[in-house]
Amino acid sequence: MCGIVGYVGSSTACGKPLEVCLQGLKRLEYRGYDSAGVALAAPGMDHVAVRKKAGRLANLEADLAKHALPEATVGIGHTRWATHGSPSDVNAHPHFNRDGSIVVVHNGIIENYAKLKQTLIGRGYEFLSETDTEVLAHLLDYYYKGKCAGNPLAALTKVMQKVEGSYALGILFRDFPEQIFAARKDSPLIVGGSEEGNFIASDVPAILKYTRNVYYIGNMELSLIHI
Ligand code: GLU
Repeated sequence: MCGIVGYVGSSTACGKPLEVCLQGLKRLEYRGYDSAGVALAAPGMDHVAVRKKAGRLANLEADLAKHALPEATVGIGHTRWATHGSPSDVNAHPHFNRDGSIVVVHNGIIENYAKLKQTLIGRGYEFLSETDTEVLAHLLDYYYKGKCAGNPLAALTKVMQKVEGSYALGILFRDFPEQIFAARKDSPLIVGGSEEGNFIASDVPAILKYTRNVYYIGNMELSLIHI
């Protein structure tokens, strides 16, 4: 098992999205993990900022202390329990499309990833990792920039129709830096709300410090979390 946390809270970039992600991931450590990562976005950024490290959350924190990420309006974090691809920096989540404009964290397994990967490679997509998850970033890219013409929810709906398996997903789009897109099938994911901002998490303890107001996303349900 592994974990997802996300936060969107302000139209002015600040340190809170990163703080909430790291705090939340710490609270989910009991579920077990082999690597950890975060993604942050804010208006004006040319791509979503990603940092990920194999090993303990402390490795990621040490790296962030050495090379700080920019302040943000929205963030997502992930602890991984590898199912496809060894525990490594490259295989750690988040995963992203070629220009870094779409970034995904995923808990679960994409069972038909090999077939989807071949199709995407045939369309010119290049893969950096050995994970099943990376197909989601490129498939979102394919629909978002193609048939779905810049509509993230339409692209996510298409992806959900194409993939088989289990997933809890947190997704950032550079073009929507005040929103988190989420969806789940057979893996848990909740939404939390507070006066200051809104959350996603795999489990309540991740966000208990900030809110007790939670909503359990239904199976095959999509969520758009915004300020
Ligand atoms: N199947 C994905 C991977 O191996 C996600 C694993 C997880 O749930 O952390 O990267």
